[in-house]
Amino acid sequence: MAEPRSCKAPVRAYISLGSNLGDGPAHLAEARRWVAALPGVTVAAASSLYRTEPQGRKDQPWFVNQVLALDCGDPCADALLSALLGIEDAMGRVRDPVDRFGPRLIDLDVLLFGDEVRTEPRLTLPHPRLTERAFVLVPLREIAPDLMLPSGQCVQDLARAVPHRVQGDRIFQ
Ligand code: AMP
Repeated sequence: MAEPRSCKAPVRAYISLGSNLGDGPAHLAEARRWVAALPGVTVAAASSLYRTEPQGRKDQPWFVNQVLALDCGDPCADALLSALLGIEDAMGRVRDPVDRFGPRLIDLDVLLFGDEVRTEPRLTLPHPRLTERAFVLVPLREIAPDLMLPSGQCVQDLARAVPHRVQGDRIFQ
């Protein structure tokens, strides 16, 4: 007898991609290929690429950033995070525990996973710095202008509340 198919609706997740070492757009393209190949994951939308001013440590190259909307058949946010950390490792990201906000070949973060809210060191949802970062809010607003966070805040208001300037594909903050 055939296996019963799952009738559960996929969970809409949003992830951010960033790179400021080497060929950033090429690293993002490679990461997108890995994400699209994850079992049960469909890339529903992709923002433009933005060149963004580094946050925190300013003495490092500008970043390339992008946000993807994913439909995840597996309703487990931990599984998505594990998959993203696996992609970072496979692409050769080296973590510097002393310089957490320094240059990185690829950085993949879970911004939102449906309406899930949790605060754990391994996985905090929504992403703990989502509301402070124009390099996340601007591409998120581009692909999901009507998006509401579980808190009830809308992405448009959050983006307006963060002082920043968009000039062409550049985001200054
Ligand atoms: P980083 O790659 O430097 O942004 O940090 C990744 C670390 O943050 C990993 O150890 C994750 O377990 C943890 N983390 C907590 N919440 C999140 C999240 N929403 N998305 C990605 N990583 C997270």
